[in-house]
Amino acid sequence: TPGRFTGKTAVVTGAGSGIGRATAVRLAQEGARVVATDVVAERLDSLAAELADADVTTVVADVSDEDGVAAVVDAAGGRVDCLANVAGIMDKFLTAHEIDDATWERVMAVNVTAVMRLTRAVLPLMLGAGAGSIVTVGSEAGLRGSSAGVAYTTSKHAVVGFTKSCSVLYAPKGIRVNLVAPGAVRTNIEAPMASQFAAERLGPLMQVVIPPIAEPEHLAAAITWLLSDDSANVTGAILPSDGGWSAL
Ligand code: NAD
Repeated sequence: TPGRFTGKTAVVTGAGSGIGRATAVRLAQEGARVVATDVVAERLDSLAAELADADVTTVVADVSDEDGVAAVVDAAGGRVDCLANVAGIMDKFLTAHEIDDATWERVMAVNVTAVMRLTRAVLPLMLGAGAGSIVTVGSEAGLRGSSAGVAYTTSKHAVVGFTKSCSVLYAPKGIRVNLVAPGAVRTNIEAPMASQFAAERLGPLMQVVIPPIAEPEHLAAAITWLLSDDSANVTGAILPSDGGWSAL
């Protein structure tokens, strides 16, 4: 039976681990040709082994630089129907008087600039096709000030603005742009420490109100819904998938 992504090419960043990996797996299972990219080669090898029967191309690349972006777009071979900007890094929970330039610049490069660079590179293909769906993974830290350090929180607020701008300006061209904001998810990022950290910094109330840690597959379900035609009438959405944290 054809899946939601049969005949479509999907690019996924951060596909070696966690949410990106679960998204790549779900897309492949539902029929997509997947271009999976990550900076860590062994993680992509393990993904390719798991998806041996699917149509998966892996690209070891750093999507925060133009060479990496070019390698990913080359591998897509002139067609990108879906783009999932998932790669992201944390900021060691440093606050504004503690933050160092190197941490700030790297977090902004990976969490914000890479999203812009890859989106900029695939948009001409989507404009040519008159269709496309882009989903960026933000964070609870893009909705509030209490779930990470200052660089990560700033970066995740930035991609909310990027998503809103693109959604408005590309809607007339048939291209949808949305964002999924996860709460804590069981991955290789140090985010699950966030509730403990927040409790230490902000007091025990924080530990009480944060919902349980989710699995990457919960996020892949939301991301693939927004990438698919099931969400044809949805653009510019900032969709929390956080067990209700954002409603508190
Ligand atoms: P993860 O560390 O398990 O996976 C992220 C992957 O991205 C890694 O394999 C890493 O090698 C890759 N990556 C990092 N920098 C890259 C770069 N420059 N180019 C290409 N690949 C790169 O983490 P995750 O939790 O799955 O994170 C995915 C996204 O979800 C991130 O944007 C993160 O900020 C966001 N997020 C995660 C949580 C959580 O609790 N895990 C919560 C909110 C938001």
